[in-house]
Amino acid sequence: MYATVKLNEGRDKSLKRHHPWVFSKAVARVEGNADAGDLVKVTDNIGNFLAWGFYSPSSQIRVRALSFKENELPDEKFIRDLVRSSCKRRDALVERGNEGVRLVASEGDLLPGLIVDRYGKFIVLSVSSQAMEHCRQFVLDELFELYPECSFYERSDTKARKKEGLSDRCGVIKGEEPPEVIYVLEGGQIRIPVEIPHGHKTGAYLDQRQSRIYLSTICRGKSVLNCFSYTGGFGLWALKGGAKSVVNVDVSGPALDAARHGVVENHLDPGRCHFIRDDVFEYLRKKVNEGVKYDVVVLDPPKFAESAATLKRACRGYQDIARLGFSLLSEGGRLLTFSCSGIVDQALFQKITADAALEAGVTAQIRAALRQDCDHTISLPCPESFYLKGLDVEVL
Ligand code: SAH
Repeated sequence: MYATVKLNEGRDKSLKRHHPWVFSKAVARVEGNADAGDLVKVTDNIGNFLAWGFYSPSSQIRVRALSFKENELPDEKFIRDLVRSSCKRRDALVERGNEGVRLVASEGDLLPGLIVDRYGKFIVLSVSSQAMEHCRQFVLDELFELYPECSFYERSDTKARKKEGLSDRCGVIKGEEPPEVIYVLEGGQIRIPVEIPHGHKTGAYLDQRQSRIYLSTICRGKSVLNCFSYTGGFGLWALKGGAKSVVNVDVSGPALDAARHGVVENHLDPGRCHFIRDDVFEYLRKKVNEGVKYDVVVLDPPKFAESAATLKRACRGYQDIARLGFSLLSEGGRLLTFSCSGIVDQALFQKITADAALEAGVTAQIRAALRQDCDHTISLPCPESFYLKGLDVEVL
Protein backbone atom coordinates (compact mmCIF):
# COMPACT_ATOMS: atom_id res chain seq x y z
CA MET A 1 0.00 0.00 0.00
CA TYR A 2 1.17 3.49 -0.77
CA ALA A 3 0.87 6.41 1.62
CA THR A 4 -1.43 9.26 0.55
CA VAL A 5 -0.33 12.89 0.60
CA LYS A 6 -3.43 15.05 0.97
CA LEU A 7 -3.19 18.67 -0.12
CA ASN A 8 -4.73 21.69 1.53
CA GLU A 9 -7.95 22.97 0.06
CA GLY A 10 -7.34 25.06 -3.06
CA ARG A 11 -3.76 23.80 -3.49
CA ASP A 12 -4.53 21.30 -6.27
CA LYS A 13 -4.30 23.69 -9.23
CA SER A 14 -0.65 23.25 -9.97
CA LEU A 15 -0.79 19.42 -10.10
CA LYS A 16 -3.96 19.61 -12.20
CA ARG A 17 -1.89 21.59 -14.71
CA HIS A 18 0.74 18.78 -14.56
CA HIS A 19 3.39 20.88 -12.88
CA PRO A 20 5.52 18.27 -11.08
CA TRP A 21 6.30 20.05 -7.78
CA VAL A 22 4.29 19.76 -4.58
CA PHE A 23 5.54 22.29 -2.01
CA SER A 24 5.52 21.51 1.72
CA LYS A 25 3.08 24.36 2.37
CA ALA A 26 0.52 22.74 0.07
CA VAL A 27 0.49 19.51 2.09
CA ALA A 28 -2.30 19.10 4.66
CA ARG A 29 -1.26 15.65 5.94
CA VAL A 30 0.26 12.32 5.07
CA GLU A 31 -1.91 9.27 5.60
CA GLY A 32 0.13 6.12 6.08
CA ASN A 33 3.87 5.81 6.38
CA ALA A 34 6.11 7.57 3.85
CA ASP A 35 9.91 7.56 3.99
CA ALA A 36 12.33 9.49 1.80
CA GLY A 37 12.12 8.28 -1.80
CA ASP A 38 8.87 6.31 -1.32
CA LEU A 39 6.20 6.33 -4.01
CA VAL A 40 3.10 8.18 -2.74
CA LYS A 41 -0.33 8.99 -4.07
CA VAL A 42 -1.25 12.69 -4.02
CA THR A 43 -4.88 13.68 -3.66
CA ASP A 44 -6.85 16.85 -3.13
CA ASN A 45 -8.38 17.63 0.25
CA ILE A 46 -11.36 15.36 -0.28
CA GLY A 47 -9.39 12.42 -1.65
CA ASN A 48 -9.63 12.87 -5.45
CA PHE A 49 -6.55 11.47 -7.22
CA LEU A 50 -4.09 14.06 -8.57
CA ALA A 51 -0.76 12.33 -9.16
CA TRP A 52 1.78 9.65 -8.31
CA GLY A 53 5.08 10.98 -7.06
CA PHE A 54 8.05 10.38 -4.80
CA TYR A 55 8.25 11.69 -1.26
CA SER A 56 11.05 13.90 0.04
CA PRO A 57 10.49 14.78 3.73
CA SER A 58 13.37 17.25 4.15
CA SER A 59 12.86 19.25 0.95
CA GLN A 60 10.59 22.23 0.35
CA ILE A 61 9.50 20.30 -2.72
CA ARG A 62 7.85 17.58 -0.67
CA VAL A 63 6.72 15.45 -3.63
CA ARG A 64 7.88 15.31 -7.24
CA ALA A 65 5.07 14.03 -9.40
CA LEU A 66 5.81 11.70 -12.30
CA SER A 67 2.44 10.36 -13.38
CA PHE A 68 -0.89 12.12 -13.52
CA LYS A 69 -2.97 9.03 -14.35
CA GLU A 70 -4.21 6.84 -11.53
CA ASN A 71 -3.78 3.63 -13.55
CA GLU A 72 -0.19 4.51 -14.56
CA LEU A 73 2.23 3.91 -11.72
CA PRO A 74 5.77 5.25 -12.18
CA ASP A 75 7.31 1.78 -12.00
CA GLU A 76 10.44 0.39 -13.64
CA LYS A 77 8.87 0.13 -17.10
CA PHE A 78 7.44 3.67 -16.88
CA ILE A 79 10.84 5.15 -15.96
CA ARG A 80 12.77 3.13 -18.54
CA ASP A 81 10.31 4.15 -21.28
CA LEU A 82 10.79 7.82 -20.39
CA VAL A 83 14.58 7.49 -20.43
CA ARG A 84 14.55 5.71 -23.79
CA SER A 85 12.23 8.18 -25.51
CA SER A 86 14.19 11.12 -24.11
CA CYS A 87 17.48 9.72 -25.48
CA LYS A 88 15.88 9.05 -28.89
CA ARG A 89 14.77 12.68 -29.16
CA ARG A 90 18.46 13.68 -29.24
CA ASP A 91 19.31 11.65 -32.35
CA ALA A 92 18.97 14.62 -34.71
CA LEU A 93 21.33 16.71 -32.61
CA VAL A 94 23.93 13.92 -32.61
CA GLU A 95 23.57 13.59 -36.38
CA ARG A 96 24.35 17.30 -36.72
CA GLY A 97 27.84 16.68 -35.36
CA ASN A 98 27.36 17.08 -31.63
CA GLU A 99 29.19 14.59 -29.42
CA GLY A 100 28.18 16.45 -26.28
CA VAL A 101 24.43 16.11 -25.77
CA ARG A 102 22.06 16.29 -22.80
CA LEU A 103 20.16 13.01 -23.04
CA VAL A 104 17.81 13.65 -20.12
CA ALA A 105 16.96 17.16 -18.92
CA SER A 106 15.17 16.72 -15.60
CA GLU A 107 11.67 18.30 -15.51
CA GLY A 108 11.98 19.04 -19.24
CA ASP A 109 11.90 15.30 -19.92
CA LEU A 110 9.40 14.45 -17.15
CA LEU A 111 12.12 13.02 -14.90
CA PRO A 112 12.49 15.67 -12.16
CA GLY A 113 15.97 15.72 -10.69
CA LEU A 114 17.70 13.62 -13.34
CA ILE A 115 20.39 14.89 -15.69
CA VAL A 116 22.14 12.58 -18.13
CA ASP A 117 24.81 14.06 -20.39
CA ARG A 118 26.70 12.21 -23.08
CA TYR A 119 30.21 13.30 -23.99
CA GLY A 120 31.31 10.94 -26.76
CA LYS A 121 31.99 7.57 -25.17
CA PHE A 122 31.38 8.90 -21.63
CA ILE A 123 27.93 9.20 -20.10
CA VAL A 124 27.59 11.30 -16.95
CA LEU A 125 24.69 10.91 -14.55
CA SER A 126 23.64 13.55 -12.04
CA VAL A 127 20.84 12.72 -9.61
CA SER A 128 19.46 15.51 -7.45
CA SER A 129 16.09 14.37 -6.06
CA GLN A 130 14.85 11.60 -3.80
CA ALA A 131 12.58 10.61 -6.69
CA MET A 132 15.43 9.91 -9.06
CA GLU A 133 17.58 8.43 -6.30
CA HIS A 134 14.80 5.87 -5.97
CA CYS A 135 14.72 5.28 -9.74
CA ARG A 136 18.52 5.43 -10.28
CA GLN A 137 19.01 1.72 -11.01
CA PHE A 138 16.11 1.61 -13.52
CA VAL A 139 17.64 4.61 -15.28
CA LEU A 140 21.09 3.01 -15.38
CA ASP A 141 19.76 -0.36 -16.59
CA GLU A 142 18.05 1.38 -19.51
CA LEU A 143 21.12 3.46 -20.33
CA PHE A 144 23.42 0.40 -20.17
CA GLU A 145 21.16 -1.27 -22.73
CA LEU A 146 20.99 1.81 -24.99
CA TYR A 147 24.73 2.58 -24.85
CA PRO A 148 26.59 -0.70 -24.25
CA GLU A 149 29.83 0.75 -25.66
CA CYS A 150 29.92 3.74 -23.28
CA SER A 151 31.60 4.29 -19.91
CA PHE A 152 29.46 5.71 -17.10
CA TYR A 153 30.43 8.28 -14.49
CA GLU A 154 28.42 9.92 -11.72
CA ARG A 155 28.47 13.61 -10.75
CA SER A 156 25.71 13.67 -8.14
CA ASP A 157 27.19 16.60 -6.23
CA THR A 158 24.63 19.37 -6.73
CA LYS A 159 23.38 21.90 -4.17
CA ALA A 160 19.84 20.56 -4.68
CA ARG A 161 20.98 17.18 -3.35
CA LYS A 162 21.70 18.65 0.07
CA LYS A 163 18.20 20.15 0.24
CA GLU A 164 16.86 16.68 -0.49
CA GLY A 165 18.86 15.21 2.40
CA LEU A 166 21.13 13.25 0.07
CA SER A 167 24.92 13.08 0.35
CA ASP A 168 27.18 13.46 -2.69
CA ARG A 169 28.10 10.53 -4.90
CA CYS A 170 30.76 10.86 -7.59
CA GLY A 171 32.90 8.38 -9.47
CA VAL A 172 32.99 5.65 -12.07
CA ILE A 173 29.80 3.61 -12.36
CA LYS A 174 30.95 1.37 -15.20
CA GLY A 175 33.88 1.20 -17.62
CA GLU A 176 36.80 3.60 -17.96
CA GLU A 177 37.78 6.48 -15.69
CA PRO A 178 37.36 9.73 -17.69
CA PRO A 179 40.52 11.85 -18.13
CA GLU A 180 40.56 15.30 -16.49
CA VAL A 181 39.85 16.95 -19.87
CA ILE A 182 38.37 15.50 -23.03
CA TYR A 183 37.26 17.29 -26.21
CA VAL A 184 33.88 16.75 -27.82
CA LEU A 185 32.75 17.88 -31.24
CA GLU A 186 30.19 20.70 -31.28
CA GLY A 187 28.20 21.70 -34.35
CA GLY A 188 30.48 19.49 -36.46
CA GLN A 189 33.26 22.10 -36.30
CA ILE A 190 34.66 22.92 -32.87
CA ARG A 191 35.98 20.59 -30.19
CA ILE A 192 34.83 21.83 -26.79
CA PRO A 193 36.83 21.08 -23.62
CA VAL A 194 34.92 19.00 -21.07
CA GLU A 195 36.12 18.36 -17.52
CA ILE A 196 34.06 15.39 -16.36
CA PRO A 197 35.61 14.56 -12.97
CA HIS A 198 36.10 18.07 -11.58
CA GLY A 199 34.52 20.62 -13.95
CA HIS A 200 31.32 22.61 -13.47
CA LYS A 201 28.00 20.79 -13.76
CA THR A 202 28.74 17.45 -15.46
CA GLY A 203 31.84 18.89 -17.15
CA ALA A 204 30.62 21.52 -19.62
CA TYR A 205 27.85 24.03 -20.37
CA LEU A 206 26.05 22.27 -23.18
CA ASP A 207 23.07 24.62 -22.79
CA GLN A 208 24.91 27.45 -24.60
CA ARG A 209 25.69 25.40 -27.72
CA GLN A 210 23.35 27.20 -30.13
CA SER A 211 24.30 30.65 -28.81
CA ARG A 212 28.00 29.87 -29.23
CA ILE A 213 27.36 28.79 -32.81
CA TYR A 214 25.24 31.92 -33.32
CA LEU A 215 28.12 34.11 -32.11
CA SER A 216 30.36 32.69 -34.82
CA THR A 217 27.96 34.07 -37.44
CA ILE A 218 28.23 37.69 -36.30
CA CYS A 219 31.88 38.26 -35.50
CA ARG A 220 33.95 38.17 -38.70
CA GLY A 221 36.74 40.74 -38.38
CA LYS A 222 35.44 41.83 -34.94
CA SER A 223 37.09 42.25 -31.55
CA VAL A 224 35.30 40.06 -28.98
CA LEU A 225 35.32 40.28 -25.19
CA ASN A 226 34.12 36.97 -23.74
CA CYS A 227 33.23 37.47 -20.07
CA PHE A 228 32.72 34.53 -17.69
CA SER A 229 34.44 32.43 -20.34
CA TYR A 230 34.86 29.18 -18.35
CA THR A 231 36.71 26.83 -20.74
CA GLY A 232 36.32 29.33 -23.59
CA GLY A 233 33.51 27.86 -25.70
CA PHE A 234 32.24 31.23 -26.96
CA GLY A 235 35.83 32.30 -27.68
CA LEU A 236 36.53 29.21 -29.78
CA TRP A 237 33.44 29.78 -31.91
CA ALA A 238 34.30 33.48 -32.27
CA LEU A 239 37.74 32.56 -33.62
CA LYS A 240 36.16 30.00 -35.93
CA GLY A 241 33.82 32.74 -37.17
CA GLY A 242 36.80 34.92 -38.10
CA ALA A 243 37.03 37.26 -35.10
CA LYS A 244 40.02 39.60 -35.24
CA SER A 245 40.74 39.12 -31.53
CA VAL A 246 39.18 37.38 -28.54
CA VAL A 247 39.70 38.21 -24.86
CA ASN A 248 38.48 35.52 -22.43
CA VAL A 249 37.94 36.64 -18.83
CA ASP A 250 37.24 34.32 -15.88
CA VAL A 251 38.21 34.03 -12.20
CA SER A 252 39.10 30.38 -12.57
CA GLY A 253 42.73 29.63 -13.49
CA PRO A 254 42.10 25.96 -14.40
CA ALA A 255 39.17 26.96 -16.65
CA LEU A 256 41.40 29.45 -18.47
CA ASP A 257 44.13 26.82 -18.85
CA ALA A 258 41.59 24.50 -20.47
CA ALA A 259 40.48 27.39 -22.70
CA ARG A 260 44.09 27.99 -23.78
CA HIS A 261 44.55 24.32 -24.68
CA GLY A 262 41.24 24.40 -26.52
CA VAL A 263 42.58 26.98 -28.97
CA VAL A 264 45.56 24.75 -29.83
CA GLU A 265 43.40 21.62 -29.95
CA ASN A 266 41.15 23.31 -32.54
CA HIS A 267 44.10 24.54 -34.66
CA LEU A 268 42.98 28.14 -34.17
CA ASP A 269 45.36 31.08 -33.97
CA PRO A 270 46.62 31.55 -30.36
CA GLY A 271 47.98 34.95 -31.43
CA ARG A 272 44.42 36.29 -31.74
CA CYS A 273 43.45 35.08 -28.28
CA HIS A 274 44.04 36.46 -24.77
CA PHE A 275 43.23 34.94 -21.39
CA ILE A 276 42.69 37.17 -18.38
CA ARG A 277 42.22 35.88 -14.86
CA ASP A 278 40.15 38.54 -13.12
CA ASP A 279 36.82 39.38 -11.56
CA VAL A 280 34.58 40.40 -14.47
CA PHE A 281 32.99 43.32 -12.59
CA GLU A 282 36.43 44.79 -11.87
CA TYR A 283 37.81 44.04 -15.31
CA LEU A 284 34.89 45.75 -17.04
CA ARG A 285 35.23 48.84 -14.80
CA LYS A 286 38.97 49.04 -15.53
CA LYS A 287 38.40 48.84 -19.29
CA VAL A 288 35.64 51.47 -19.17
CA ASN A 289 38.04 53.79 -17.31
CA GLU A 290 40.74 53.11 -19.91
CA GLY A 291 38.28 53.97 -22.68
CA VAL A 292 38.80 50.64 -24.48
CA LYS A 293 36.16 49.58 -27.07
CA TYR A 294 35.11 46.17 -28.41
CA ASP A 295 32.83 45.17 -31.27
CA VAL A 296 31.16 42.28 -29.41
CA VAL A 297 30.81 41.70 -25.65
CA VAL A 298 29.53 38.37 -24.30
CA LEU A 299 28.21 38.22 -20.73
CA ASP A 300 27.44 34.68 -19.55
CA PRO A 301 27.58 34.91 -15.76
CA PRO A 302 26.82 32.16 -13.23
CA LYS A 303 23.36 32.01 -11.65
CA PHE A 304 23.01 35.28 -9.70
CA ALA A 305 19.50 34.55 -8.32
CA GLU A 306 19.25 31.30 -6.37
CA SER A 307 15.85 32.17 -4.86
CA ALA A 308 13.25 34.93 -4.56
CA ALA A 309 15.21 36.27 -1.56
CA THR A 310 18.22 37.11 -3.76
CA LEU A 311 16.26 38.28 -6.82
CA LYS A 312 16.65 42.03 -6.30
CA ARG A 313 20.38 41.84 -5.76
CA ALA A 314 20.70 39.51 -8.74
CA CYS A 315 18.85 41.94 -11.03
CA ARG A 316 21.22 44.71 -9.94
CA GLY A 317 24.16 42.41 -10.80
CA TYR A 318 22.82 41.66 -14.30
CA GLN A 319 22.15 45.35 -14.85
CA ASP A 320 25.61 46.43 -13.66
CA ILE A 321 27.52 44.12 -15.99
CA ALA A 322 25.21 44.95 -18.91
CA ARG A 323 25.70 48.69 -18.29
CA LEU A 324 29.47 48.24 -18.28
CA GLY A 325 29.25 45.99 -21.33
CA PHE A 326 27.24 48.62 -23.24
CA SER A 327 29.79 51.27 -22.27
CA LEU A 328 32.56 49.21 -23.86
CA LEU A 329 30.86 48.79 -27.24
CA SER A 330 31.85 50.67 -30.34
CA GLU A 331 29.06 52.01 -32.61
CA GLY A 332 27.17 49.10 -34.14
CA GLY A 333 28.61 46.86 -31.42
CA ARG A 334 26.74 43.84 -30.09
CA LEU A 335 26.06 42.80 -26.51
CA LEU A 336 25.21 39.14 -26.01
CA THR A 337 23.86 39.03 -22.47
CA PHE A 338 22.52 35.97 -20.65
CA SER A 339 20.84 34.93 -17.42
CA CYS A 340 20.59 31.32 -16.25
CA SER A 341 18.49 32.23 -13.18
CA GLY A 342 15.14 30.47 -13.57
CA ILE A 343 13.28 33.13 -11.60
CA VAL A 344 14.43 35.94 -13.89
CA ASP A 345 12.01 35.48 -16.78
CA GLN A 346 12.39 36.76 -20.32
CA ALA A 347 10.32 39.93 -19.79
CA LEU A 348 12.23 40.87 -16.64
CA PHE A 349 15.56 40.19 -18.34
CA GLN A 350 14.64 42.46 -21.24
CA LYS A 351 13.69 45.19 -18.76
CA ILE A 352 17.01 44.82 -16.92
CA THR A 353 18.89 45.06 -20.20
CA ALA A 354 16.83 48.09 -21.29
CA ASP A 355 17.57 49.83 -17.98
CA ALA A 356 21.27 49.05 -18.38
CA ALA A 357 21.28 50.65 -21.85
CA LEU A 358 19.59 53.75 -20.42
CA GLU A 359 22.18 53.98 -17.64
CA ALA A 360 24.98 53.61 -20.19
CA GLY A 361 23.37 56.31 -22.33
CA VAL A 362 23.03 54.18 -25.46
CA THR A 363 20.15 53.38 -27.79
CA ALA A 364 19.97 49.70 -28.64
CA GLN A 365 17.84 47.22 -30.55
CA ILE A 366 17.28 43.51 -30.09
CA ARG A 367 18.74 41.50 -32.97
CA ALA A 368 17.89 38.07 -31.56
CA ALA A 369 16.37 36.41 -28.51
CA LEU A 370 18.55 33.51 -27.42
CA ARG A 371 17.87 30.55 -25.16
CA GLN A 372 19.09 27.18 -23.91
CA ASP A 373 19.63 24.70 -26.74
CA CYS A 374 16.90 22.19 -27.61
CA ASP A 375 18.34 19.23 -25.67
CA HIS A 376 17.73 21.28 -22.50
CA THR A 377 14.06 20.63 -23.02
CA ILE A 378 11.47 23.10 -21.79
CA SER A 379 8.40 21.57 -20.22
CA LEU A 380 5.21 23.39 -21.19
CA PRO A 381 3.59 23.23 -17.74
CA CYS A 382 6.85 23.85 -15.83
CA PRO A 383 8.16 27.34 -16.74
CA GLU A 384 11.10 26.90 -14.34
CA SER A 385 12.61 24.51 -16.90
CA PHE A 386 13.11 27.53 -19.20
CA TYR A 387 16.02 28.91 -17.20
CA LEU A 388 18.59 30.22 -19.69
CA LYS A 389 17.64 33.27 -21.70
CA GLY A 390 19.71 35.78 -23.58
CA LEU A 391 19.56 38.78 -25.86
CA ASP A 392 21.74 39.88 -28.75
CA VAL A 393 21.46 43.65 -28.61
CA GLU A 394 22.96 46.06 -31.13
CA VAL A 395 24.04 49.55 -30.13
CA LEU A 396 22.88 52.02 -32.75
N1 SAH B 1 30.27 30.79 -21.12
C1 SAH B 1 30.70 29.53 -20.58
C2 SAH B 1 30.03 29.18 -19.25
C3 SAH B 1 30.15 30.22 -18.17
S1 SAH B 1 29.85 29.60 -16.57
C4 SAH B 1 30.53 28.44 -21.62
O1 SAH B 1 29.91 28.68 -22.68
O2 SAH B 1 31.03 27.33 -21.42
C5 SAH B 1 30.25 30.92 -15.54
C6 SAH B 1 31.73 31.19 -15.33
O3 SAH B 1 31.84 32.40 -14.59
C7 SAH B 1 32.52 30.16 -14.53
O4 SAH B 1 33.61 29.73 -15.29
C8 SAH B 1 33.04 30.91 -13.27
O5 SAH B 1 34.38 30.57 -12.95
C9 SAH B 1 33.00 32.34 -13.75
N2 SAH B 1 32.82 33.38 -12.73
C10 SAH B 1 31.93 33.43 -11.72
N3 SAH B 1 31.97 34.63 -11.08
C11 SAH B 1 32.92 35.36 -11.72
C12 SAH B 1 33.42 36.70 -11.57
N4 SAH B 1 32.93 37.51 -10.62
N5 SAH B 1 34.37 37.12 -12.40
C13 SAH B 1 34.87 36.30 -13.37
N6 SAH B 1 34.42 35.05 -13.58
C14 SAH B 1 33.46 34.58 -12.77
